[in-house]
Amino acid sequence: MILPGDFLATSEESVGGQGTFEEEGKLFASVEGKQLADNRARSVSVATPTVVRPLAAGDYAYAVVHDLYESVALMEFQPVDRKGERIAAHNTYAYLRISEIQRGYTERFRDFLRIGDVVKARVKEITSLGIYLTIADSELGVIRSHCTQCKAELEPRGRVMVCPACGNKEQRKMAAGQHF
Ligand SMILES: [Zn+2]
Repeated sequence: MILPGDFLATSEESVGGQGTFEEEGKLFASVEGKQLADNRARSVSVATPTVVRPLAAGDYAYAVVHDLYESVALMEFQPVDRKGERIAAHNTYAYLRISEIQRGYTERFRDFLRIGDVVKARVKEITSLGIYLTIADSELGVIRSHCTQCKAELEPRGRVMVCPACGNKEQRKMAAGQHF
């Protein structure tokens, strides 16, 4: 396994291909992967190992609230790839049950989630009816949302979201951290 920054060859010996960079006559790897050498073409490159596997419970995803119904939200989502692994989903839509908003009882979505919000979520389960997400854990929830009054992007301030344009205060189920 080649790591970024590993020396591969001098640029007199070889021509650098994909996944390499040249510095002072030397070729180095710019990505993690497997070294590929083509002796006839006198080139060297680094191939990134990408394993594609199907989406599974426990995987993380970014999702946008597409629609809100009484007890379920329709989410458009994108799985978050892990290092050296690409995650493929058979569908780009998933559901979020109202019981997966937070720990405990939630009466209505609109106090925690609005259409257009971007959330960090985790796959709860995959059933024949569809993919179900959860944002109940503290690190999961809304990471981007817009003011329902003027559409400006809301800024998290303590436990509420504040609109910098019109001063409107809104409630969301916010994610504790911004990144996975
Ligand atoms: Zn506003």
